[in-house]
Amino acid sequence: MKTLRDAYAGGRFGLSFELFPPKSPAGEAALFHHVGRLVEFEPSFITCTYGAGGSTQQKTLEIVAKVRKDFDLPVATHLTCVGLTADQLRDYLRQAIEAGVLSVVALRGDPPKGETAFTKTAGGFGYANELVAMIRGEFAEMGIAVAGYPEKHLEAPDLATDLANLKRKIDAGADAVITQLFYHNEDFFRFRDACDAAGITTPIVPGLLPVTNFAQIQRITALCGAKLPQPFIDKLSAAGDDDDAQFRAGVEFATEQTQQLIESGVAGIHYYVLNKSEAASEVLRAVTLPA
Ligand code: FAD
Repeated sequence: MKTLRDAYAGGRFGLSFELFPPKSPAGEAALFHHVGRLVEFEPSFITCTYGAGGSTQQKTLEIVAKVRKDFDLPVATHLTCVGLTADQLRDYLRQAIEAGVLSVVALRGDPPKGETAFTKTAGGFGYANELVAMIRGEFAEMGIAVAGYPEKHLEAPDLATDLANLKRKIDAGADAVITQLFYHNEDFFRFRDACDAAGITTPIVPGLLPVTNFAQIQRITALCGAKLPQPFIDKLSAAGDDDDAQFRAGVEFATEQTQQLIESGVAGIHYYVLNKSEAASEVLRAVTLPA
């Protein structure tokens, strides 16, 4: 298997993990230790995010290239349109292919820090569907995943508009949709049904972030707009300062969420592991993965 396209081919269950570029050598050593743990679950591929404004461009590529080489695993680089011209995006993709990175999570990206709205770079792209079209047209062999939002993208006026925009990315040539993190499976099921109704036939892969720390997840959900269920919030609050109790509550929730999604026939699961392995490992040991 070479690209993320193959991860879901023929009804295969595609398990994937998402990393972010570490900021220090110690962080990098820890990341590779955790990746070593995660590969025991035989992921179909591993991805690494791409920092706002391209700030981590080289690090992102370095991390995925090393994961591919050290663990002999397919990898995907995330790539955003922020601050880059189409030619600079092409250069990055050429470098990725040279490093054996044959898949991309193609994104528009968020506005750079300090800015409130995304502005298209002159000679660049305004929306992810344009990036997807360029990749599919000029780097046809690459696997392409795009972002989907079960609770709607924050800037979209409504779900239907957001879905129509997701369809543009699929029509431009994306192979799979990986969703934003969410904690209400009903939102995902509704989104998947709406994708079906819109004629989106690519795999819709839930993106899950097992909670390990209440304060951290409150920060993350405030940024992306995902809602935490009230009983889960109550449980995390009741854990107080007990880190272990927070971790246990998070793993228990993620285990139930994962199991229900598997039973609903999802094509795969993408875990936002935040460069750690403990929570995802516990969840994956507790659930019954498709054969
Ligand atoms: P788009 O699909 O372009 O959508 C952006 C907004 O514009 C939406 O509201 C959409 O409805 C609307 N829209 C889309 N196309 C059109 C069109 N043609 N005409 C009019 N309106 C349109 N961010 C990073 O900086 N780095 C990462 O590595 C990263 N990885 C991510 C991975 C996943 C799986 C997900 C779900 C998100 C990730 N993000 C990342 C966050 C992402 O960059 C933001 O959510 C960003 O605000 C939108 O990116 P997009 O690709 O979904 O944009």
